[in-house]
Amino acid sequence: MTDIVSITDLYKSYDTASSPVTVLNGVDLSVQSGERVAIIGPSGSGKTTLLLVLTGLEAPSSGSITIAGQSLNDTSGDQRADVRREHIGIVFQSFHLIPSLTARENVALPVEIAGQHNSRSRALDMLQQVGLQDRADHYPSQLSGGEQQRVALARALINEPELIVADEPTGNLDDQTGEHIMQLLFDLNKSAGTTLILVTHDNDLASQCERTLRLQAGRLQQQTR
Ligand code: ADP
Ligand code: MG
Repeated sequence: MTDIVSITDLYKSYDTASSPVTVLNGVDLSVQSGERVAIIGPSGSGKTTLLLVLTGLEAPSSGSITIAGQSLNDTSGDQRADVRREHIGIVFQSFHLIPSLTARENVALPVEIAGQHNSRSRALDMLQQVGLQDRADHYPSQLSGGEQQRVALARALINEPELIVADEPTGNLDDQTGEHIMQLLFDLNKSAGTTLILVTHDNDLASQCERTLRLQAGRLQQQTR
């Protein structure tokens, strides 16, 4: 089995007006292709930061990151964007939907960027899978937090990425909808071998992963159950 994610000795500090804040303090993480990994940790422990650095959206202070065999170190922003487009579906904690586009247009965007056809019908199909076919023509401001979260998920899944990185993907959903979304993610893992890295507070979600890692004091530790 090859590693789809390989992170070694990762450090990340943010410069602030006072003194720099060190958030990641020597993180090592290897994830095999097809694995399901949950990342837990208290609020402010750096989970979102880790996902941003792992997907090349934030630069690390030091340390090496390799995604699908491609190093993110010493690459241009464009090259990192290529790696994301080709390999990763990201669900952000704050969704990052484009406000001037409808749900369907948001979901269709990655298909259009990839220069593929049928973006409209594929987007509708994805919206159906997350239970939002009736909301296709609504704008993000017309949707609840949970609905926006599902649009963001549909957008992350539409190009069938080999790696899904999701920041609290069920955080805004009621139990039943959360269960449905969880099933969708785990079905993809089973049928397509999609690798899942899920930041979560949801014990049910974590318990369905093969490994749970706790981010504490800037490092990842295996959580025993
Ligand atoms: P979590 O997702 O686990 O709640 P975050 O990764 O969002 O944690 O944040 C970890 C720490 O880094 C927090 O103390 C937060 O205030 C700080 N932080 C996050 N982003 C920035 C930033 N852009 N500039 C300065 N500090 C930041
Ligand atoms: Mg967070």
